[in-house]
Formats: sequence, structure tokens, C-alpha cells
Amino acid sequence: MTSTVQYEVVEPGIGVITLNRPDKRNAQDVRMTYELNDAFERAARDDAVKVIVLAAAGPHFSAGHDLNDVVWHDEFTQVSNWGGYGEPGAEGWVAREEEIYLEMCARWRSIPKPTIAAVQGRAIGGGLMLAWVCDLIIAADDAVFCDPVVAMGVCGVEWFVHPWELGPRKAKELLFTSGSWDADEAHRLGMVNSVVPRDELTDATLALARRIAAQPMFALRLTKEAVNQATDIQGQPSAVRAAFSLHQLAHTHNLERYGICLDPAGIPPALQDRFPQAEPDDKLRAERRADRVAAVADHPHPGKAQA
Ligand code: ZN
Repeated sequence: MTSTVQYEVVEPGIGVITLNRPDKRNAQDVRMTYELNDAFERAARDDAVKVIVLAAAGPHFSAGHDLNDVVWHDEFTQVSNWGGYGEPGAEGWVAREEEIYLEMCARWRSIPKPTIAAVQGRAIGGGLMLAWVCDLIIAADDAVFCDPVVAMGVCGVEWFVHPWELGPRKAKELLFTSGSWDADEAHRLGMVNSVVPRDELTDATLALARRIAAQPMFALRLTKEAVNQATDIQGQPSAVRAAFSLHQLAHTHNLERYGICLDPAGIPPALQDRFPQAEPDDKLRAERRADRVAAVADHPHPGKAQA
């Protein structure tokens, strides 16, 4: 099986993890989630690695969570203690999202080494989560960011750090409108550290990684912990968990109303160009919706075909 994630120590001190589903615009399916977790753990435990870069193959960083994934997460070794993974309805759904989104993002944010995301092209929905868990973000000048999940009937992606990443007022505007923002706007908002020409993204990221790798490892670890503790003390972990509860309420509402966890009205046509996984036409979208509802009815897992 082809790996969805590549990992390589490219030079002393620097490990590079590469999202490797370019044909799917690096949409994050369950297999990629666990392979990414394995790569992060490998890099974290490797004494030869001081800085971890998260990059992506192809023109786009990530189109978000793979809505067409047919793999269920209980095929992998779980990292959380939530349980109830195979239960139908809301119980299974919240267990799934606790495991593959909330717990994973919390783990990746707390890796005891500096991490740098190198982002080009689209970083949509769950793609934002992958960038946001990193300590630093370098954006290519073609990068475009968007959380379109409100348009899907839910209150933003599961790792709800928008108020910290964008500021509360811009977070509200961009969520209320499912709006997108480019690399320069992300830089102005303080969401990314710097913006570089697309063809200089790799070199600029490695140059930054080299400067960090020249510092003493234990001091880097303590510094990361000190900054993370500052946002912890502001209440970020509690805010993320509170928003996750509301997110699950939205899924449950959609499950009750439509039989699936996302509003079947899906992405409004006006937003489809920002959301690469949107179906190309209404007829196909309607067929896919019917397939997903049927899959929910047939399958013991709560919504296997409509992640
Ligand atoms: Zn969700």
C-alpha cells in the first residue's frame, strides 16, 4: 500500500514529514491521520531530529478531511480513551471525532520539539487544523485559507483555535461568511510567520529550521512548553473542548434532522470554488447524498460513508 505520509531526515537535525496524497489534494483520511501520527511520533523520539517540518506534496497543502473516506478508525490502534467507537448515532460519531481530530491535534500541538508547517495552495477546513497545530507557519504567496464548515451546518472545524489564530472579530467574520483569506491577510492577522514566493517555500522553511536546530534542544523544548502554557492559562484547551461540544451538538442536530452528520444541503454553490471536495453539479450531489444516507442505514458504524 502506498503511504499517505512520507518521513525523511533531510539533513542533521531536521525531519520533514510530507502529506502525500496530492491526487486528493492531500485530503486527510483516517489512514493519513494515523500515518501522520506515526511520523510525528517517530520524529519526536529521534534524538537526531531537533526540528520537524510538516510539508505537503503537490499544489495544495490540504483540502481538509476526506469526506469520501470509507475507512473507520477502529481499524487502527486508538490514542484516546473515549470508547464507544463502533456505536451508532451520536455516541459513535463523537467518539470518532474525539479520537481522530481532538486527541490527535492535542498530541501534535504538544510534540516536545519545534514544528514548522510549510503551506502552499489551499489549506481548507481540516487542512487548517494541520497547520495550526504547528508552532510556526511559513506560507507560500499562493496560499489560501478557509474554514467552510458553517456552510455544512456545523460551527467551525473541530480544533477550534480560530479566536487565537485570527483574533475574535475576524474569526467571527470568516466563520459567519465561510470566507477565505490569502497568505498576505494571514500574515497581517499574525496567523503565519512569513510569506515567501511559492518556489522558495522549501528553501525558506529549511533555512528557518536550520536556525532553530542550532539552538540547544532542551531550551527549545522548555520554550515551546512555556508559550503553550501561556495559551493554556488563557483557557485555550477549555475553549477548544467547549467548542467541540457545540460542534457535536451541530452534528447531532444534522443527524436527527437529515440522518447524516453534515447538512445535506452541503456547500452552497457560491462557495464551491473554495471547497475543492464539493460535488461538481447538483444532480451528482443529490445522488451522493442518497448514497450516504443509504450507507448510514446499512452500516453498523454511524455514518461510515459520510465522514
Ligand atoms: Zn466534526
